[in-house]
Amino acid sequence: MAKKAFKAESKRLLDLMIHSIYTQKEIFLRELISNSSDAIDKIYYKALTDDRLTFDKDNYYIRISVDKDNRLLTIADTGIGMTQEDLENNLGVIARSGSFAFKQENELKEDHSIIGQFGVGFYSAFMVADVVTVISKALGSDQAYKWESKGADGYTIEPCAKDGVGTEIILKIKENTEDERYDEFLESYRLRSIIKKYSDFIRYPIKMADSEGQEETVNSMVPIWRKNKSELKDEDYANFYAEKHYGFDKPLKHLHIQADGTVVYRAILFIPEKPPFDFYTKEYEKGLELYSNGVLIMNKCADLLPDYFGFVKGMVDSEDLSLNISREMLQHDRQLKQIAKNIASKIKSLLQSMIKDEREKYEQFFQAFGRQLKFGVYSDFGMNKETLQDLLMFHSSKEKKLVTLDDYVSRMPEDQKYVYYAVGESIERIEKMPKTELVLDKGYEVLYLTEDIDEFALKVLMSYKDKSFKSVSDQDLGIEADAGDDKNEEEEKGQKELFEAMKGLLADKVKDVRASKRLKSHPVCFSTEGEVSIEMEKVLSAMPNNQDVKADKVLEINVHHTVYRSLKDAHEKDQEKLALYTNLLYNQALLIEGLPIEDPLAFTNDICKVMV
Ligand code: ADP
Repeated sequence: MAKKAFKAESKRLLDLMIHSIYTQKEIFLRELISNSSDAIDKIYYKALTDDRLTFDKDNYYIRISVDKDNRLLTIADTGIGMTQEDLENNLGVIARSGSFAFKQENELKEDHSIIGQFGVGFYSAFMVADVVTVISKALGSDQAYKWESKGADGYTIEPCAKDGVGTEIILKIKENTEDERYDEFLESYRLRSIIKKYSDFIRYPIKMADSEGQEETVNSMVPIWRKNKSELKDEDYANFYAEKHYGFDKPLKHLHIQADGTVVYRAILFIPEKPPFDFYTKEYEKGLELYSNGVLIMNKCADLLPDYFGFVKGMVDSEDLSLNISREMLQHDRQLKQIAKNIASKIKSLLQSMIKDEREKYEQFFQAFGRQLKFGVYSDFGMNKETLQDLLMFHSSKEKKLVTLDDYVSRMPEDQKYVYYAVGESIERIEKMPKTELVLDKGYEVLYLTEDIDEFALKVLMSYKDKSFKSVSDQDLGIEADAGDDKNEEEEKGQKELFEAMKGLLADKVKDVRASKRLKSHPVCFSTEGEVSIEMEKVLSAMPNNQDVKADKVLEINVHHTVYRSLKDAHEKDQEKLALYTNLLYNQALLIEGLPIEDPLAFTNDICKVMV
């Protein structure tokens, strides 16, 4: 019988798995029991929806047995079983999930946090066993098969005998080493406590022989979502999160819903600590597990979650859903719509209470998933902006950390008309932007926007609590400039002519050239007119089929700067020089904004000209 090799990537993952992922080896049992439970779920579901099959509850269970002398631990179930093909496909390749292909494409590092997101549950057996044997007979099949592997070097499959449908996983437990004790996994009391800890809520009996050889059920079999909240500790929810593979991180927050109103359902929802590695890609699939009266009917029911809360993990159990319901029918199910609505509002309340009572935790949440909320404001034509606006946070110039719009508006001085914001690549860069000077000098708080989506989201919101948003690049900042600009008429006329001339030189590159009301120490900057800002221009032009949308730029000149004198001189005496200076200043403004210079060579030549 030929030995088959694991696929290359499986082998690498397997090594990582055995040596590093789980610090607690005991969880292998949780993984195997959970697979058994899934397998019984599948046969249970079939029996409930197929009239030809009957389902007698007593025939479905998981049995754990120990053969100390031979160091064997067996996990047997009466689940749906596996065909030869299933054994090959399910146990021969670790990374069946699309996420692995994704990982390779993106050449992500062998990050341990990623591994947990694959279906590697079964392989955890190799943390405690030298040899793993799987004997399985599938529902509807007469022949059983035996799969066997000693770890990374491959596996064999051959026909064998087995009574009844189901699967037996036989582990040859490793010998003790200097720093690891494996014997404990052959001790009945130890195994019981592991089962109690991780698998108590498994819905089928987990049977084990007691000291007299009498078989008894170890788990309480009440699913965690049916238990009373007051009986449960944070740890129980965290265990459930891990057991269900909702994520490899820890849950940041959980929500246990026991709704008995117009819609009756139970739900356990989690906000993960970190986004899954594919969260901000199109590969990511949102959704909750959907149970009908305790039976899993769908792994990822997308309709239960709005996109903007797509990061939420968890499950919903409702009594009134039909088992035979198809995906299409579910979409139109009124009951399900009600539940979804109810869930969305509960999640929002949870987040709001975090803002109030657990600010740091909320900030941590927002760092991870805030982007999704901002997308939520922006997408669907702003349909959900009312729901989401209170949940947004932006970096504040005053607080030097994230603040909510409510924080901002509630401490606005009376004379301040707008909620000011500045957009840039990073906080450091925005802080240095010439055009923020005036607003900051005035003592107003400015929100620093550093993500692509930020400004688009604010544009959709338009205002918060009747205060409109205002970019510091905007022409009219609604701030009275300091008095003391007592220009005489002649002066004003000269300035006007100079700026007209400059505008002529820059042709269609700028909308206008004007004396700046906001600049203090810098000679030049851009401001914009109209809806499109410079940052939006950047984002839009980076899109695949960009429409070449441009911001209407105004070149602002600081008339109190010495550069202005030089401009005036040139305007009076030397038109060529004026053209040179105008171009230089225009290009400087581009650089300050982080926009590309149209002709770098001409620009450097211009600089040389000034130097000579
Ligand atoms: P996951 O459970 O995350 O899919 P595993 O590596 O634990 O990943 O299992 C791989 C697959 O092998 C399962 O999805 C299931 O199809 C099959 N499998 C594992 N254990 C059993 C079992 N006891 N009975 C039937 N099928 C099983």
